[in-house]
Amino acid sequence: MTKRPTPTPTPPRPPKPQKYVKGLPVSGGIVVGRVLVIDDELRRVVPRKIAAAEVKGELARFESSVKASIAEISRVYEQAESEMGKEAAKIFAFHIGMLKDPSLTSQVRAMIEQETVTAEYAATHVLDKLAAQFRSSKNPVFATKVNDIEDLTTRLLSQMMGGSRASRLEQADAGTIIVARDLTPSQTASFDRSRILGFATDLGGMTSHTAIIAKALEIPAVVGCQTLLRDVDDGDQVVLDGDHGVVIVNPDAATLEHYARAIEQRRLYQVSLTELRDLPSVTSDGAEVTLLGNIELPEEVARVLNSGGTGVGLYRTEYLYLTGNTEPTEGDHYRAYRKCVELCNGRELVIRTMDLGADKYTQAQEEIPERNPFLGCRSIRYCLKNQPMFKKQLRAILRASAEGSIKVMFPLVSTIAELRQAKFLVNDTMEELEEEGLPFDRSIKLGMMVEVPSAAIQAETFAREADFFSIGTNDLVQYTLAVDRINERVASLYTPAHPAVIRLIRDVTRAARRHNTPISCCGEAAGDLEFAMLLIGLGVRTLSVSASMIPPLKRFVRSVTVEQCEKVARQALTLDSDVQVTALLRDRARRIVPEAFEGSGVE
Ligand code: PEP
Ligand code: MG
Repeated sequence: MTKRPTPTPTPPRPPKPQKYVKGLPVSGGIVVGRVLVIDDELRRVVPRKIAAAEVKGELARFESSVKASIAEISRVYEQAESEMGKEAAKIFAFHIGMLKDPSLTSQVRAMIEQETVTAEYAATHVLDKLAAQFRSSKNPVFATKVNDIEDLTTRLLSQMMGGSRASRLEQADAGTIIVARDLTPSQTASFDRSRILGFATDLGGMTSHTAIIAKALEIPAVVGCQTLLRDVDDGDQVVLDGDHGVVIVNPDAATLEHYARAIEQRRLYQVSLTELRDLPSVTSDGAEVTLLGNIELPEEVARVLNSGGTGVGLYRTEYLYLTGNTEPTEGDHYRAYRKCVELCNGRELVIRTMDLGADKYTQAQEEIPERNPFLGCRSIRYCLKNQPMFKKQLRAILRASAEGSIKVMFPLVSTIAELRQAKFLVNDTMEELEEEGLPFDRSIKLGMMVEVPSAAIQAETFAREADFFSIGTNDLVQYTLAVDRINERVASLYTPAHPAVIRLIRDVTRAARRHNTPISCCGEAAGDLEFAMLLIGLGVRTLSVSASMIPPLKRFVRSVTVEQCEKVARQALTLDSDVQVTALLRDRARRIVPEAFEGSGVE
């Protein structure tokens, strides 16, 4: 083995100056802690030296990532061959061939041994060099292989780094603030709250599911920071202000003092909100506005009820798939739903059938991912294509309905045929259960989310056949404005205050009123005090939001009159741009109920 020189001790780094980084405030709360960088951006591997004693381990990591990648690609190969034929599958044979090519793998091994660098860096370096050679080749056949080499690099790296990300998380000390390029909803859900105070990511948008999970678990979070990773190192002190979407790296003494006061003020405000818990949610002119909770896991029901919610308006059941390692069985579904029924104890419980796809689950399972998954086979479309899986869930929901009241809601319905087919499958499942002698609620209500413009525009038609509507502004905004809800680059264009969105909501509420179809709103916008005022003014009387939003929302509802809300809604409908609408809502909300904004951290 080559002898390495004794490493010279690194000189202490000069103190770094304080730096403000602005992101999107997706989950409230202010925390101060130390950074742990979870950066597995696969194409940005930094050269990291290793000790001689680590070489053996790195070589082993490289070997096993090659083996695992070959196994993975072989499965893709077989699937591609059966679905697209031998010719199309050839490409994967090329990938396997590369990984088995000793002239390539030996270069990586040599680099780990001789240059004592990590396996990730050696593999990236060797493959990038090859890609560059192919790219500059005059032969077009070589040039077309560049993407394949990049694909292969990504695969190898994800094999090598998947484990390292998990183990870094396990090593997090108490008082850690995670900084990552991006996090998946399930990674976020698995954070150990006793050690992880909050997180910030460079990617992500206001209503991404990672943001929703953070809010559900009450983990302060800022996403869409874009350049934060560049400015932090492990161990740096940061203030993470989830109320305003700010991360302050290496805060100075004055900043720390300012935030210590803000944290205390926030605590007192939270205490004042708990006093509202058992008071009714009625406007000051006596109209009831039902406040329900959005949940991802049955355990959250208690949090909703403790926050003063009167039931669950949206149970995102797809989290059963996102938090486990194996596909849930009918029994798993049933136990989760029965638990919710028990915890709700006769209160409203809306179970949304699994909204998989897009950023949730299916792409990771797919060996050939969809090109444009947000417009692809997601939600109800996925369920209707995977009926045995869907029926397993429907059976479980129906069985749980024998224990207490449940409503079923279908997500992302965009055509009437989908609604009819979904209802047909529920009836079909009922017949099966009947034949098996299993009890269920025959009059179970079957409603739908209105979260696609086609459904909103055709609300009259849907209102005749759906038992209830729930407006999902998170997706409705994304699809109406053609703005990806998780893309930080277009985050400034993503707003429910766009006149087109407001008009759609108005039309949906009108159609619902005409047909006596109960309607609620369960998107994140329902938890925004200013937007809630608009929704009430447009006629929505049920808002379903994250548990943490219920107390401030109740405080707001109790301070406003329906007449004031209606006036604001009428004015908003005359405006031409989201900027004007936002300014109007901001101004009116603060003028009408300044007390709802005092001390809330909302500025
Ligand atoms: C929505 O789209 O508004 C919604 C509530 O559903 P999700 O956020 O789960 O897509
Ligand atoms: Mg949605």
